[in-house]
Amino acid sequence: MATIRATCVDCGDVELTTADVRVRVCIEDNAGSYHFRCPHCAMAVVKPAEPRIVDLLVASGVELSTWRLPAELFEPRFGDRINHDDPPQLTGESGSVSPDWVASRAVSVLWVVPLVVLAAGAVLVGATLRKSTEATIDLRNECAQLEELRSALDDLRREADSTRAAVDRIRSRPERTQVPR
Ligand SMILES: [Zn+2]
Repeated sequence: MATIRATCVDCGDVELTTADVRVRVCIEDNAGSYHFRCPHCAMAVVKPAEPRIVDLLVASGVELSTWRLPAELFEPRFGDRINHDDPPQLTGESGSVSPDWVASRAVSVLWVVPLVVLAAGAVLVGATLRKSTEATIDLRNECAQLEELRSALDDLRREADSTRAAVDRIRSRPERTQVPR
């Protein structure tokens, strides 16, 4: 099983196997990311992944899953924005505070949920599109490392084409895809 080196914000470089990493691709905008749980601090780490990185990780055996943006993003919107004066009107109250109105206010909190989902989706998309300098450097390191992984995989494929026995031999060979820096 191939070794993948990634970076935890707190622990620095960590070594993972293909089974430790998952790749996610958004069907709508094709934005990719990969995530893993840091073997040292157990924190979940998520990083954006360019299509090339996605391909390399998937080719190395990393599990791919797809997801869609929240359906609310595509719903038609009309009418004025809801404001603080709306709940009494929506419930037929004329401004007096009744227990029913208080109850409906509590229910109206549910309106916030899709908005929060939307906001979270927007933040995720923004975070995927926006690459900080630090993230770019990490990505470059990973690009270089994954380049070697790919060449190792190419070798593997070539030999797999020749004989099944060759494949078995290669798989039993300990495979290191990282270079010491
Ligand atoms: Zn960590």
